[in-house]
Amino acid sequence: MTELVIFDCDGVLVDSERVYCRVDREVFALLGAEFTEAEVVDQFVGSSTEMLTAILEERLGRPLEPDWHAAYKHLYDEALDAELTVVDGVTDVLDALDVPFCLASNGSHASIRRNLTRVGLLDRFEGRIFSARDVTRGKPAPDLFLHAAASMGVPPERCAVVEDSPYGVQAARAAGMRAFGYCGGLTRADRLTGAETVVFDDMRELAGLLAAAAAGC
Ligand SMILES: [Mg+2]
Repeated sequence: MTELVIFDCDGVLVDSERVYCRVDREVFALLGAEFTEAEVVDQFVGSSTEMLTAILEERLGRPLEPDWHAAYKHLYDEALDAELTVVDGVTDVLDALDVPFCLASNGSHASIRRNLTRVGLLDRFEGRIFSARDVTRGKPAPDLFLHAAASMGVPPERCAVVEDSPYGVQAARAAGMRAFGYCGGLTRADRLTGAETVVFDDMRELAGLLAAAAAGC
């Protein structure tokens, strides 16, 4: 039985990855590194700032200042303020779920809360928001999902994780949780498939898929 559904935030609840990927390319170009759209999707969707920085430094061939990101934050904020929407079907899913749910994201608490506020979802997750900053290792390590499950008082094997990135489904598998890989956004289905993983492309299917998994179908 599923007793807790753990949602990723970016690309699962809020349709932010399209915005991030476009602004990432603009910012990386300003720094002197050209990335194709496919490279950005494959390498940065679902990544932590630390992972992103490491990949970018390797491409640039030089280290970046620890707070390099701050100088470009306004570009992301302006785009998100203007364009961010909820992922299609998510509100229906949250209304339909009959088990508790929470959120676990590689983003900071501040960015998670800003994005949820932008689309009117903050109230639905208040008090149940977990950030990679709360643990030593973010996704793809299992730490964040295990921390969220423990905080919510549910054993890992009774948790379902909804993710849109390879890092996220890897983290769910490592935590011993069933993963639901959403490919309705930027990530291709074949990058999410794997053991204990159900891949789907319409968020409105999620409640039915959770019920089917719980019934052993
Ligand atoms: Mg995501």
